[in-house]
Amino acid sequence: MADTPLSTLNNGVEMPVLGFGVFQTPPEETRSAVDAALRAGYRHIDTAAAYGNEREVGEAIANSGIGRPEVFIETKIWISDYGYDQTLHGFDKSARKLGVDQIDLLILHQALPTEFDRTLQAYRALETLLADGKVRAIGVSNFMVDHLTALLDQATVIPAVNQIEVHPYFTQHEVQAFGARQGILTQAWSPIGGITFYRDGEHTSTLQDPVIREIAQAHGKTPAQVMLRWHVQQGRSAIPKSTKPARIAENFDIFDFELTDAQLDAIDGLDTGRRGGPEPADITLANFGRPIPEA
Ligand code: NDP
Repeated sequence: MADTPLSTLNNGVEMPVLGFGVFQTPPEETRSAVDAALRAGYRHIDTAAAYGNEREVGEAIANSGIGRPEVFIETKIWISDYGYDQTLHGFDKSARKLGVDQIDLLILHQALPTEFDRTLQAYRALETLLADGKVRAIGVSNFMVDHLTALLDQATVIPAVNQIEVHPYFTQHEVQAFGARQGILTQAWSPIGGITFYRDGEHTSTLQDPVIREIAQAHGKTPAQVMLRWHVQQGRSAIPKSTKPARIAENFDIFDFELTDAQLDAIDGLDTGRRGGPEPADITLANFGRPIPEA
């Protein structure tokens, strides 16, 4: 089995460019999904305190027979745990549930612009965890340009990653370009447009797109594989989710073909400018706050 290509983060840490996501994967299905992913060759798992399945992710990794250092574990601090001491404790909760001493990449799940002081304190806690060797890299998620600008004004460590919604129908070019200038790697969530399926209630959308389907046919690949290849060729990390072993393997099988510049441009041309997920500024403690259980 071929090794996953690696992306070198801005602090020199290497991260497999293609990871496996577990958002909305119920805890009772998470072990088998992560197990299928590790068998398919993924060596990077993306979870979050808010997903309620860190324990099962950790168990699947521990039971896989693959050494801990071979698997890159990424998780996220939820907004209810923002603040300096709270975020340090948030690390402890996640690390204990995952069953690890060190987390490879720990990120803030949301910008929480309505209480950005708490966000800044949370980020300061990530910097402490990094200095103490508790995490190997730190980053953010759902930060727009103004949030990144405000963070960079105060931070001593530039985030390694900004995990944001990116798929052919919503590319957030400006956020990506700003990140690239600062050395922040864009990591695509809903990389095959999953958020548009949940919103529309069925699997249509990007998977049925005629432009993507035609490119897929030309390469003897599936639309999902074409979208994931588009991310990787444009230098993004991507973290597709599935609970189905055949799709999990399909989504990993993207390293044996290459899209042409014209095909990359054609996919770029599908951007609608319409976000599938919530507006980052609408994520507030009042609307989305909920306690993250102790380990
Ligand atoms: P994805 O773009 O990964 O799409 C997932 C959806 O597509 C699921 O409904 C899945 O169904 C289906 N699917 C997966 N593979 C295929 C395939 N090959 N063919 C057809 N259908 C397929 O969307 P997600 O929103 O799950 O995003 C991926 C990951 O990104 C999450 O799991 C999470 O780790 C992260 N994320 C982060 C967010 C953040 O705020 N930071 C927000 C949202 C996601 P099935 O499981 O039935 O196969």
